[in-house]
Amino acid sequence: MIAGPCAVENEKRMDDIALAIKQAGANLLRGGAYKPRSSPYSFQGLGEEGLKILRAVGDRHGLPVVTEITDPRNLDQILKYTDMLQVGARNMQNFVLLNEVGQTSTPVLLKRGMSATIDDLLMSAEYILSKGNPNVILCERGIKGFDPQTRNLFDVAAVPVIRSLSHLPIIVDPSHATGRPELIPSCAMAGLAAGADGVHVEVHDCPEEAMSDGPQALLPDQYAELATRMAQLAELLGKTIPVKTGASP
Ligand code: PEP
Ligand code: MN
Repeated sequence: MIAGPCAVENEKRMDDIALAIKQAGANLLRGGAYKPRSSPYSFQGLGEEGLKILRAVGDRHGLPVVTEITDPRNLDQILKYTDMLQVGARNMQNFVLLNEVGQTSTPVLLKRGMSATIDDLLMSAEYILSKGNPNVILCERGIKGFDPQTRNLFDVAAVPVIRSLSHLPIIVDPSHATGRPELIPSCAMAGLAAGADGVHVEVHDCPEEAMSDGPQALLPDQYAELATRMAQLAELLGKTIPVKTGASP
């Protein structure tokens, strides 16, 4: 249950969101400090300042943290602050980056490229594994489609396909897959029903002020409701996921 804002923006906002997702049952806090943006004029992330905020807030709420690495030159810096490295869709085939994160033992969340086949994703995972890091989690986050109704095309069949081909955990990201908050719950549930080992959702307490991906963010209350429904579905599926584990320490 990975949740949090697209980008780390400031400590107060991060703290409010972390408290809400922790209470809803999330067990990993996300937030980008280095953002891969389509436009060079868009907010690029707070860099090390954002990493410091993410670490401090994660520690305060007893949540391990995951953040994106876009450039191997930032690896040592990011490793000082994070529990998990995210290699995003745009860098899934950045083989230099894969080789570098493969030489660490930090878990890597490897997201499927928007034009990548499942075999491409698995081969990118091999880059990391073959360098000695066995801790890879795959993520289906939607691929390019032709219908502008959704930001990407959520390939839910990728979940059972990957389960049949790989021992690696596979999670789904209905936020980037759909780009529409109202579609996130159904796609999260579909991913879980298809066998996903986790769900990654962007949550923001004031989406209209978000520095990136605001339009696709779930509000904290919506996330809490989704977490409750996911816990119910998980039980039917014979799985357990945490829900409403209570207050931050
Ligand atoms: C993100 O997680 O904010 C992100 C940029 O994801 P993706 O690489 O899937 O687009
Ligand atoms: Mn995002």
